Amino acid sequence: MKTRRHAKTIAGAAALLIVAAAPGGAAAAAEYFPLRNVRLLDSPFREAQDRDIDYMLALDPDRLLAPYLKQAGLPPRAENYPNWESTGLDGHIAGHTLSALSLAFAATGREDVQDRLNYMLDQLERAQKANGNGYLGGVPDSAKLWKQIAAGDIRAEPFSLDDAWVPWYNLHKMFAGLRDAWLYTNSTRARDMLVAFADWADRLTSGLSDDQMQTMLRTEQGGMNEVLADVYAITGDPRYLALARRFSDRKLLDPLLAGVDELDGLHANTQIPKVIGFERIAELGGDDDWHRAAEFFWEDVVDERSVAIGGNSVEEHFNDKHDFSTMITDVQGPETCNTYNMLKLTRRLYGDDPELRYVRFYERALYNHILSSQDPATGGLVYFTPMRPEHYRVYSQVDQSMWCCVGSGIENHVKYGAFIYARDGDALLVNLFIPSRLTWPEQGLVLRQENGFPDTSETSLVFESDARLRLRLRYPAWAVAERPVLTINGKQQAVAAAPGNYIELERDWKKGDTVRLELPMRVHAESLPGGPDYYAILYGPIVLAARNAPLDGEAPDFYADDSRMGHVPDGPMCPLEKVPVFVAASPDFARHVRRVGAGELRFRFSDAGNSKAFPATDLIPFFRLHRSRYTIYWPFSTPEKLQLTKSTADEDTQ
Ligand SMILES: [Zn+2]
Repeated sequence: MKTRRHAKTIAGAAALLIVAAAPGGAAAAAEYFPLRNVRLLDSPFREAQDRDIDYMLALDPDRLLAPYLKQAGLPPRAENYPNWESTGLDGHIAGHTLSALSLAFAATGREDVQDRLNYMLDQLERAQKANGNGYLGGVPDSAKLWKQIAAGDIRAEPFSLDDAWVPWYNLHKMFAGLRDAWLYTNSTRARDMLVAFADWADRLTSGLSDDQMQTMLRTEQGGMNEVLADVYAITGDPRYLALARRFSDRKLLDPLLAGVDELDGLHANTQIPKVIGFERIAELGGDDDWHRAAEFFWEDVVDERSVAIGGNSVEEHFNDKHDFSTMITDVQGPETCNTYNMLKLTRRLYGDDPELRYVRFYERALYNHILSSQDPATGGLVYFTPMRPEHYRVYSQVDQSMWCCVGSGIENHVKYGAFIYARDGDALLVNLFIPSRLTWPEQGLVLRQENGFPDTSETSLVFESDARLRLRLRYPAWAVAERPVLTINGKQQAVAAAPGNYIELERDWKKGDTVRLELPMRVHAESLPGGPDYYAILYGPIVLAARNAPLDGEAPDFYADDSRMGHVPDGPMCPLEKVPVFVAASPDFARHVRRVGAGELRFRFSDAGNSKAFPATDLIPFFRLHRSRYTIYWPFSTPEKLQLTKSTADEDTQ
């Protein structure tokens, strides 16, 4: 059993997490730098961040706020947005927007972002005051609904609580938005509003038995347990930690505590936020068993339920982990919210145990799912990313699409600075190769990371100040050279570390010192977990994809309208039997893929095995492939198997 450090508390926006060592605590823990200490430099991530800020500022705050003013009995200044903002989840996007604006302000310091945040807080504060009891929600018929719940009239289905869709899920977004406005922008007003709101939740549920609470938690509730644990961390009042435990769904937790995987068939994005809450409660309350439950969940989802891009779920649910065939046949592949939440969980777990397996997953999911989920033309966001060959995605439109993945999506692209670096005592951990400038005032450090990764396979760290520190530079498992080529100021260094470890360098660094690490990548294939026989092709951690032509006579529209299911790419499907099969004695895809040119990554996939029908195909990073049909997973067969399949098919048609 691991000894862990506990008692992390949030001491305000400016402060790092405070980590106190448990008695005899030996386990290492990492802390994160405040987001405002990491500025992105030129890269695809920086471009995505800028586009995302344009997108969130294009949202009309008065339309987002209308549900809150209406429920508080105040005249709205505009009409609700359509779509999910007018059909029961009224208000959820405003909560996400508070989080996104707060992150964006921390990441950039932009005044227009802060002005928008302040305007929204002004209006929300009016609404909360008018409610008079701390409540702050846009749920239709709020007063009636919460009166019923408080009285124990609880009719809970997975997506319906007293016929009101998922009201706690909705409220969770506002709780999290207020928390983030405090943590990232130091808004004491947001903190006070958050605490008043938490008091409302405490009073509302005070008459409910634990059994009634558990019944209520059958309905999706976002991360209510996580945010209430955060209120405890902010206030130090254990009442909120007790409430966070009451909001923890035992039906999910108990099997995880026992190390039993009962996830098949469960709605994925209902579960992941609860597990973030279990981990948060474990950090604050010292429950090692809850931490192990969270770790068990993470391992199960990452190792056995995730596809090459780092995403999971089919039609939003965990598929049978021994059979991924629906991942190939269904057009509702991994949902972006799931990965948004898996990254949150990963970041928490790495904070407890700074192991590189967490970084490996984070990097994989960040480049291939999160970065790919934003349309570079419009900033529109993706809900489902189908793994079905030759299918496509649809993107949100700013004034029409009001889904969960828009809400989490606008947060995704303004927090790329959150996991590039971490610290462990006086050691600086460099985890991701995203161009950026880090300031660490306590060490007097300013450090710039620059590279053209992944188009070039190296990264450089340039000291812009003198500093004495230990540098732990990630030497990723996918960097497969015999020996890493590491130079300091052009002079090659001996390195003992193997791939999958940190390279540690300690010295008195001088302004201008430059550390350069080569990151050799190779093409490799990765099988779809749990079968059938499909393979994704990667270059280092980057998933490659082919652009496919439109189907005959098709003039595809890649933008979602405001209909209830507008987020689903439900146009015609390419029949799977028309998808080229890679036929060879073994799935040695890599032998048939070679890089073309030296600029942006491009590969040619050709001469595939014995199959004369296999066309030469260009592959590019999936994160650069947009507004098109595409293929990530390729079917594989041996010549014998293909012959067998053909004869069976011939018999069937006779
Ligand atoms: Zn979603």
